[in-house]
Amino acid sequence: MKINVTQSSMPKFDEYCEEIKSIWDNHCLTNSGPKHKMLEEKLAEFLNVKNICLFANGHLALEEAIRFYNFPEGSEIITTPFTFVSTCNAIVRNGLVPIFCDINLDDYTIDASKIEKLITKKTVAILPVHVYGNVCNVEKINEIAKKHNLKVIYDAAHAFGVKYKEKGICNFGDVSMISFHATKVFNTIEGGCLCSPSKDLIEKSNISKNFGLNFEDCVAFGGNLKMNEFSASMGLCNLRHIDCAIQKRRKIFEQYFKNLSNVCGIKLCKSQRNVKNNYAYFPVLFDGYKYNRDEVKKLLEKNDIGSRKYFYPCINDFSCYAMFNKNDTPNAKFASNHVLCLPIYEELSLELVNKICEIILE
Ligand SMILES: *Cc1c(COP(=O)(O)O)cnc(C)c1O
Repeated sequence: MKINVTQSSMPKFDEYCEEIKSIWDNHCLTNSGPKHKMLEEKLAEFLNVKNICLFANGHLALEEAIRFYNFPEGSEIITTPFTFVSTCNAIVRNGLVPIFCDINLDDYTIDASKIEKLITKKTVAILPVHVYGNVCNVEKINEIAKKHNLKVIYDAAHAFGVKYKEKGICNFGDVSMISFHATKVFNTIEGGCLCSPSKDLIEKSNISKNFGLNFEDCVAFGGNLKMNEFSASMGLCNLRHIDCAIQKRRKIFEQYFKNLSNVCGIKLCKSQRNVKNNYAYFPVLFDGYKYNRDEVKKLLEKNDIGSRKYFYPCINDFSCYAMFNKNDTPNAKFASNHVLCLPIYEELSLELVNKICEIILE
């Protein structure tokens, strides 16, 4: 049996059927129906946020967050090259220019101490990523943004349910995007949301995601970015089990940690202070180990075990970002060449975790 690097969380079939039954009574399939409204309420509570807007997927939500600010064309946004390409495409698709800041090798998030020297007259925002659910240096980033009058837009795609100092992670910055894609800790099949302390941003997003329509008037050049009722229903079911799902991930995470920490040439992420983790990924950095990252990946493959070079390559090494140079961000380049993410999902047994570790350590 092949073990994949992840497996989507799904409720019991009967539970989902029960959830969608009412859709056959009301014939409401989309356009912010009752399931959508209910999910929004429940998520606001779970994520510990005031204002939330659901979307068809995380990427469109991020594009909309950037679009809200109406930055002049050609403005610069400081971000990281060690992320999923969606982050950076969202900047470019808004007519803006990404400026790549290097990461730190402790938690793979943006190195806040390197942001200021990248600021120019054209800089309008910082777009950091809570990579693997690891929390960015939110305090320092906030300080820099205040000082230079910049917006902070978080890609929190990985950070569902993460808390920092007892507060939901989306309470930091001007706006945050979470992805509910099938492969994420919490899924609505496809989906995502924006959370923001700004009620205005969320109200305008609600209009923009429905073609810019406000009653009979069209007030913005919106698109169709809405979440449908079947996705919202999936979310309602998955949300009932989320605490248990994260607990199971935690057990797996701890088992890996027990087996692989204190091995020479293997580096793991240490738990961050004041952070409630969601155990979304298990990244391992191989540096000076008897096998390099690619050899470990092949070794696992031979045993029918999937793993993922996540993120490889870094964004500034993709062909459509050829105007950038990966050598400008040496830590990101290093991480993309040395990190491997091991399988982690609710139903992965601890026996299999031990087996995966044995293969790596043999
Ligand atoms: C998954 C992901 C996205 C995109 O979210 P979708 O819901 O798949 O559109 C953006 N950024 C990061 C870092 C991601 O991992």
